[in-house]
Amino acid sequence: MSIDIENLVKRFGSTTAVNGVSLTIEDGELFVLLGPSGCGKTTTLRMIAGLELPTTGRISIGGREVTYLEPRHRDVAMAFQDYGLYPHMSVLQNIGFPLKIRGVERADRDRRVRETADTLGISELLDRKPRHISGGERQRVSLARALVREPSVFLMDEPLSNLDAKLRAVMRTEIRKLVTNLGITTVYVTHDQIEAMAIADRIGIMNKGDMIQVGRPLEIYDRPADRFVAEFVGSPPMNLIEAECAADHRLICDLKHLAASVPEVERQRLGGRLRPGARIMIGIRPEHLAIDAGTDAIGDGASIELIEPLGQQTNIYLETEVGKMISVVDQTELRVGDRVRLRADPALVRLIAE
Ligand code: ATP
Repeated sequence: MSIDIENLVKRFGSTTAVNGVSLTIEDGELFVLLGPSGCGKTTTLRMIAGLELPTTGRISIGGREVTYLEPRHRDVAMAFQDYGLYPHMSVLQNIGFPLKIRGVERADRDRRVRETADTLGISELLDRKPRHISGGERQRVSLARALVREPSVFLMDEPLSNLDAKLRAVMRTEIRKLVTNLGITTVYVTHDQIEAMAIADRIGIMNKGDMIQVGRPLEIYDRPADRFVAEFVGSPPMNLIEAECAADHRLICDLKHLAASVPEVERQRLGGRLRPGARIMIGIRPEHLAIDAGTDAIGDGASIELIEPLGQQTNIYLETEVGKMISVVDQTELRVGDRVRLRADPALVRLIAE
C-alpha cells in the first residue's frame, strides 16, 4: 500500500523534530529515511506507526487517512534495533505472539509461524530461547515476528545497528530480498549511507527536520541537491571546490581548468541559484578525479600527500591550491610527494548549491 505524507510537523516543546515533510512512498517500495543523528527520521517513522502524533499534517496509508488512528488500527508492523524479544519464550512463541494476542487459533498460528520462519531461514531455531541464538538469528526472529501478521506496511528503525559489519552486509541483502519477494511497502530508517544506497528503491535524506532530497540512490549520488547531501553521501566524500558566479555568469575558481569544464547542463540545473555574486561549489566524485604524473603548465596542479592502497581501490590524498582533494583509482605507480595534474571528464563535473 502507498503512504502519503503531507506537510508533517512534529514539535517537542521548542524543538522542531520534523519540519513540514511531504512525501509519497509507492506501493511495494523500500524507502529509506537517511540522515545524521537527530535529523527527525525516527520521529517521522513513529508518526507513520502511530506511536507519535503529529503537531500538524496528514498521513494516509493505502488512501485511508490514519493521522490520529491508534497503531493497532493502521495495519503496520515495526522492527526495532533492540529486537525486543521475550527471553522466557521460545522462538516459535515469540514469532507467534502477535497472532496470539489477536486471538488466532493455535493450529493456524503455528502454520503461519512455520511459513514465516521458513521464509527467513530460521525453521531449525523454533524450539530455542532467544539467548541460545546468535545476534543475526535474533534479528531474523524479530523480522519474522513483525512479518507474521502480514502487515500492509513494514517499518524498520536501524534494524541492523547491533550487528557486526559483516553480518550487517548479509542481513541487509536478506531484507532487500524479503521486501522484493513479499512486496510489502517498507520504510527503513538508517544513518548509514552505504546501507541506504545498497537496499533502497528510493532514499529521502533529512537534515534538521527537513526533507532535503528524495530520489533513487544513484540519482542522489550523481546529483546531490546541496552541499549537505554531497558531503553526507559517498565515501570518500565528493570533492567540493569553492567558486563564485561572476557578473558575466562565468565561474571564478582557483582551479581554472576545472571551473572551465563545468557543463552547461549543470548551470541550467541550478537555474536562478546561479546569479552573479552567488557562492557555489564545483563537485567532483573522487573516482571521477583523474590525476596524471608531471608538472605540465596545462591544467591544475597538486601534490600527493598520502596513498592508501585498499586492495579493490587506492585512495590518493592530494594537496591543491584550493585545499585537500581525494582521487580514487584502481592502482597507482605514483608516490607521496609527486606533483600531478588534475583532470576530470566535464560530463561528470557537478555544480552544488550551498
Ligand atoms: P537518531 O538517529 O539519533 O535516532 P533521528 O534522526 O531518528 O536521530 P529523532 O529521534 O527523530 O532523530 O529526533 C529528532 C529531534 O527531536 C532531536 O532533536 C530529538 O532530540 C528530538 N526528540 C525526539 N523525540 C523527542 C521527545 N520525545 N521529546 C523531546 N524531544 C525529542
